[in-house]
Amino acid sequence: MSSTVTSRPVAPTTGEDLDEVTHADVAIVGAGPGGAAAAAHLAARGRDVVLLDKESFPRDKVCGDGLTPRVVRELLDLGLEDEAHGRADGFAVQQGLRIHGGRVEMELPWPELDDWPSWGGTATRRVFDATLVRAAQHAGARLAQGHGVTGPVWRDAAESRVAGVAWKGADGRAGTVRAPVVIAADGAGGPMGKALGIRRRTERPMAVAARGYYRSPKADDPWISSFLDLQDADGRLLSGYGWVFPLDDGTMNVGLGLLSTSREFQGSNYRKLLESWATGMAPDWQTTPENLTAPIRTGPIPMGFNKTPLHQRGVLLVGDAGGMVNPFNGEGISYAMEAAQLAAEVADRALVTKRTSDLDGYDRVLRERIGGYYTLGKVFAELVGDPRVMHVCTTYGMPYRPLMKLVLKMMAHLTDRRPSDTKDVILNSLQRLAPAA
Ligand SMILES: Cc1cc2nc3c(=O)[nH]c(=O)nc-3n(C[C@H](O)[C@H](O)[C@H](O)COP(=O)(O)OP(=O)(O)OC[C@H]3O[C@@H](n4cnc5c(N)ncnc54)[C@H](O)[C@@H]3O)c2cc1C
Repeated sequence: MSSTVTSRPVAPTTGEDLDEVTHADVAIVGAGPGGAAAAAHLAARGRDVVLLDKESFPRDKVCGDGLTPRVVRELLDLGLEDEAHGRADGFAVQQGLRIHGGRVEMELPWPELDDWPSWGGTATRRVFDATLVRAAQHAGARLAQGHGVTGPVWRDAAESRVAGVAWKGADGRAGTVRAPVVIAADGAGGPMGKALGIRRRTERPMAVAARGYYRSPKADDPWISSFLDLQDADGRLLSGYGWVFPLDDGTMNVGLGLLSTSREFQGSNYRKLLESWATGMAPDWQTTPENLTAPIRTGPIPMGFNKTPLHQRGVLLVGDAGGMVNPFNGEGISYAMEAAQLAAEVADRALVTKRTSDLDGYDRVLRERIGGYYTLGKVFAELVGDPRVMHVCTTYGMPYRPLMKLVLKMMAHLTDRRPSDTKDVILNSLQRLAPAA
C-alpha cells in the first residue's frame, strides 16, 4: 500500500504570515469549499478578506470527491471553466449516475435543465480545495494557512457581538484578525460553533461515511455508481448507500455511509464494513485491499441545517459548520459553495449599511431556498432508517425508468425554477409545501 492518496502532483499554495493584529473587512475561518468560495466572491466584490486555515494546501479531506451538476455550476460561477469541463489536471467529468439496487442496474444521465449543467464530475479534495484556494487568492483574498483559529474575539464583555477571530500558528505565534463580519466555514468539528455555544439540532439527521482509494481498471468509467442495497459481511441489509466514483488518475473513490436514523449507526466498524463490501463487489472492479492506495478514512456528515440560526452575533455559518449537507444523498460541497455565494452577497451589503441585523437575511434566504427540501430530506432519512423500506423501494421501484428519473431529480435536488416539465412542477410544489427546516 503506498502512502499517497492521488498520483496527481499538486503544487503547494503560498500563503502569508499575519501580523499580531490584522484588520480586514471579513475574516473567514476554514478554506474548504465553503470558505474558499466565500473568499473568492468577497474579494471579487473588492472586499479585504483574510482566509485562515489550520492546514496548509494541498491537503486531504475525507470525502467521496463527487461533484454533482450543482457543484459544476458553482465552478462556472467562479470562472473555473477548465475545471468545470474536466479539462484541468485532476478533474474528470461523468455523464450521470449508474444505480445498482435489487437485481437491477440502471444508467441515468444527469437531467437536461435550463438552470443546471447536464454533467457532473470528480476531483480529489487535495486537488479541488487547492484549486478553490488559488481562485480566492487570484481574486485578491489573503490566505493565512497553518493558522489555527482558537475562537472569536468579542467586541464587549457581554459577548453580544463578534469582532474578529484569534489564531495560533504551528510555530507557536499567536494573533488576531479584527473584522466586522466573520464567516465560520470551519467544517463539521470546527471551533467556531463550539465557542459560540451553538448546539447541534439532534432531530436533524447525521451520517458517518468511510472512503478508500482503489486502483482499478474501471477508473475511466463515464458513470458514477451508487449502490442502494447495502449489506454487511453477513448479508444483513443496512440503511445507507455505497458509491464508486472514478477519478482521473487511475483510481476510484469507493465509500459507504450510514444514517443516524439506522440501528447500525453507532457501534459499526466503518473501515471493516467498507473493506468487506468493496471486496465483495464484481471481480472486474478489483476493489480488494491490495489495490488500496491509502488507508481507509471516515468522517461525519452533518445534514439538513443541523446548526441554526445561520447568523449568530456577526458570524455567518457556511457549509458543514451549519450542517448543510443534503439528507437525500450526502452531498455537501455544492451547498457549502452556494451558501458561500449568498454569505458574500449579504456580508458585502451589511458592510455598506453597517447594520448587523442585515446579516439575518442570510439565514432567512437560505432557509427559504432549501429549508422545505431539507424538511423532506429529514422525513426521507427517517423512512430509510429501516433498511426494509429501501429494499422494498429498490425491488419494486427500480425497474421503472420514468420513476427512477424522478427519484434522481429529487435526490440530487435538480429542478428548474421556472419548469416546463411536469416532474419539476411536482417536485417544486412538494418543496414549497414542506415547512422550512
Ligand atoms: C466520507 C464522506 C464522503 C463525502 N462525499 C461527498 C461527495 O462525494 N460530494 C459532496 O458534495 N460532499 C460529500 N461529502 C460532504 C463534504 O465533504 C462536505 O459537505 C464539505 O467538505 C463541506 O465543505 P466545508 O467548506 O463546509 O467544510 P470542510 O471541507 O470540512 O472545510 C473546513 C476547513 O476548515 C478548516 N478548519 C477546521 N478547524 C479550523 C480551525 N480551528 N482554524 C482554521 N481552520 C480550521 C479545515 O482544515 C478545513 O480546511 C462527504 C463527506 C464525507 C465525510
